[in-house]
Amino acid sequence: MDFHIPTLIEHKRDGGELSPDAIGRLIREFTDGTIPEYQMSAFAMAVYFRGMSPAETAALTAAMRDSGRVFQWPDGTPPKVDKHSTGGVGDKVSLVLAPLLACEGLWVPMVAGRGLGLTGGTLDKLESIPGFDVHLDAPRGLRQLEKVGAFIAGQTDDFCPADKRLYALRDVTATVPSQPLIIASIMSKKLAESLDRLVLDVKFGAGAFMKSRAEAEQLADGLCAAGRDNGVRTTFVLTPMDEPLGGSVGNALEVAEVLETLRGSGPRDLVELTLDLAGRLVDVPRTKLEQRLHDGSAWQKFLEIVACQGGDPRALESWGGLHGAGAVRPLLAEESGTIVRMDAGTIGRVCVALGAGRRKITDRIDPSVGISRIRKCGSEVARGDELLTVHAADEAACLRALDALRPAVAIAPQPM
Ligand code: URA
Repeated sequence: MDFHIPTLIEHKRDGGELSPDAIGRLIREFTDGTIPEYQMSAFAMAVYFRGMSPAETAALTAAMRDSGRVFQWPDGTPPKVDKHSTGGVGDKVSLVLAPLLACEGLWVPMVAGRGLGLTGGTLDKLESIPGFDVHLDAPRGLRQLEKVGAFIAGQTDDFCPADKRLYALRDVTATVPSQPLIIASIMSKKLAESLDRLVLDVKFGAGAFMKSRAEAEQLADGLCAAGRDNGVRTTFVLTPMDEPLGGSVGNALEVAEVLETLRGSGPRDLVELTLDLAGRLVDVPRTKLEQRLHDGSAWQKFLEIVACQGGDPRALESWGGLHGAGAVRPLLAEESGTIVRMDAGTIGRVCVALGAGRRKITDRIDPSVGISRIRKCGSEVARGDELLTVHAADEAACLRALDALRPAVAIAPQPM
């Protein structure tokens, strides 16, 4: 086929299959600006409706990976590992997992993202630590791995630039929820890290991208195939996201929970999921990994990572006093019984409205706002007990959040 973009779009629009060469050239010319955004948007919409074959998805993933810098690791260095989560409410696992794995002598070159829709972002959480710098270039990243074994940084301009530009287009053309586009977007970035092992945490439920387990499983299979086809030992876990992970949502509040977890007193669901994911990446008994959360070694490693990236480790010692919100109020139970719903979707949306996430790319994050002390489904409560606590910039925002949260919680009365 002659390389004529309207013909290529038409071919996809009508259900045809594109060659790896055509996909490679499309991505190269989109990245260098030859192909304008309106044509790439039309292409994304054609893919949204027609899907892609496994061969096309593999070609798209490889082309996006190769649109920028692919990490090169010196010979003889430790295995490189990472995890990717498809995003959830209160998901702060990366901040615990990276130091834990580095304690085991692995290298963790974690390129993380910002909040997206109602799901929080690892970089936004880390930036609540004074001085923490998420902008690392490749030489600095390598030095940090040699020194402490892990970094957590943002995507630089030369790292998967095709994904950066295409994602921005998808976001405003209603083409984000397309499995081949999601697979290529996620896996191009993970493959550009040149990993040995990768674990994927694919979420489903009210607070996740994928609402059903079946959809999540299909996505997980596609993501794993892309990893394995490129020589990365890739596994996945499917995890429900109907209630938030842990007990806090919001940037500084989640960091507080990370600090508790690294000092051995984290919420059980967060600890278990972190250990599950770590166990997919390192062949070490679970009890030994858990011990690292109790004996101070994971905590020390986190302090080292923070210090290497310009953050102030002393701020972590007195975290509670650092980010006070303007208004803090609890939501109280109006009846006694068992909590049967703590809707992650509503909690995520309320947190974005409070200022913990962005509605548009230029919005500023308020690190202090969010929700803490969130009770878990299955807990028994009495009328008047605290169900969660809202942290807002001011009293009016706090009251609006409490109103919006009331329907997010359901309590089933205890049988007589
Ligand atoms: N996260 C990504 O990085 N890309 C997607 O397309 C969806 C989630």
